[in-house]
Amino acid sequence: MSQRIFLSSPHMTGNEKKYINEAFETNWIAPLGPNVNAFEEELAAYAGTEGAAALSSGTAAIHLALDLLGVGKGDTVFCSSLTFIASANPIVYLGAEPVFIDSEPETWNMSAIALENAFRDAEAFGELPKAVVIVNLYGQSAKMDELIKICDHYSVPVIEDAAESLGSTYKGRKSGTFGKFGVYSFNGNKIITTSGGGMLVSNDTEELERARFLATQARDQAKHYQHSVIGYNYRMSNILAGVGRAQLEVLDQRVEAKRAVFKRYVKGLGDIEGLEFMPELVGTMSNRWLSVMTLDPDKIKVAPNALIDALEAENIEARPVWKPLHMQPVFEGKKFYAHDENNVVSERLFTTGICLPSGTAMTIEEQQKVINVIRMILQGSKVELTK
Ligand SMILES: *Cc1c(COP(=O)(O)O)cnc(C)c1O
Repeated sequence: MSQRIFLSSPHMTGNEKKYINEAFETNWIAPLGPNVNAFEEELAAYAGTEGAAALSSGTAAIHLALDLLGVGKGDTVFCSSLTFIASANPIVYLGAEPVFIDSEPETWNMSAIALENAFRDAEAFGELPKAVVIVNLYGQSAKMDELIKICDHYSVPVIEDAAESLGSTYKGRKSGTFGKFGVYSFNGNKIITTSGGGMLVSNDTEELERARFLATQARDQAKHYQHSVIGYNYRMSNILAGVGRAQLEVLDQRVEAKRAVFKRYVKGLGDIEGLEFMPELVGTMSNRWLSVMTLDPDKIKVAPNALIDALEAENIEARPVWKPLHMQPVFEGKKFYAHDENNVVSERLFTTGICLPSGTAMTIEEQQKVINVIRMILQGSKVELTK
C-alpha cells in the first residue's frame, strides 16, 4: 500500500537539532533555560505583543489565562461552540460553566448576533461572564472588531484561542493579539510544532510574569518551598523550546505552503457544483492550517462520511469538521446561543464539512491523488493539476 497521506503532520527543518544540541552542550536540559527565553522573545516579536510565556500546551495557556482573569466556581465563560474541546475544558477545570456561542457563515467563527444575545440574557440575569473565549477556526480569524466591541461594551475580557491561526492576520495585525490574552499551540498537528507545547501572549507583562509564576507551582520568594496559592506544572522545557525556535524561523514559509495547498484544492475541485471551500473574510489572511470544504446535500448525493471512508480506503486521512461543543455528550444541557434558530451554523458545518490533508510536506503528486479520489467519488472524473 502507498504511504499514508496525513491531515497535517510535523514538518521539521533540520535546524531544530542546532538548538537542541546547544541545550545538550550547555546541559540546559531543564528547567527552562536560554531556548525558552529566546523562544518567548522571538514569538512575541513575531506576533507583535509585549511578551509571551512558553508553556507545556495550548490547553495550559487557556487554563492559565482563565485563572489570571479570576475565573472560578460559579462563574460563567462564553466560548465558541465550533472548536476542539481544549478551548472549553479549562473552563470546567476551574469549576466554571461554559456557555456556547454559535458560528456565523462568513468566518465559521463566533457569531456577533449570538454573542450579543448571550450578553443581553446574562445582563438580565445579573451575571455577566468572567471571560469570552473566541476561537479562530482552521486559521481563519473571527470577526474581531465586531466581537471585541461587544465584549468591551460589557467590560468582559477576551481570550483569543489562536491555537490554529498562528501566522494569520486580521486587518494586518497578527491573529492572537486581539484579546487580553492570546493562545498558541505547538501540538504535533499544528502549523509549527514543538511536539507538544503552547504559548500565552499579552501586552500585559505583569500578568505574563504571574502566568510564569503559576506555571512553576506558584513558588513564593523564599529559600524553602513556600506556596500561598495553588499553581501548576505548565512550563515548556528548554529542549522543546529549541525545536520551537527553528520552527518559528520557517513559519511564514509554512503559511505560504498551506495557502498553496488550499489553492490547489480550489483549482482541482472548485468546479464541482455543491462543493464549497471555507471562506476567507475580506481584510484577513488565513494560514489555511487545514483546507476545509463543505458538500451541499441538495447538490451532492455523497455524504461527507462516505467520502471520508472512501479516502480512508486509499490510505488518505480526512476528517469531519469539529463536532460543536454544545452537541458533545459531556456538555449536555449547557446553554447555547444560535446565530439563527432556524439555521444553526455550527451544526450545518459539522454535518456538511470535511477537513482535507493539508500537510506542508505533502507532495504535489500526493495532493493530486487526494483530488482524484474525491473527483472519482463525487462525479467519476479526474483532473490534472498543473504546477
Ligand atoms: C490544538 C488546539 C488547542 C489545544 O492545544 P494543545 O497544545 O493541544 O493543548 C486549543 N484550541 C484549539 C482550537 C486547538 O485547535
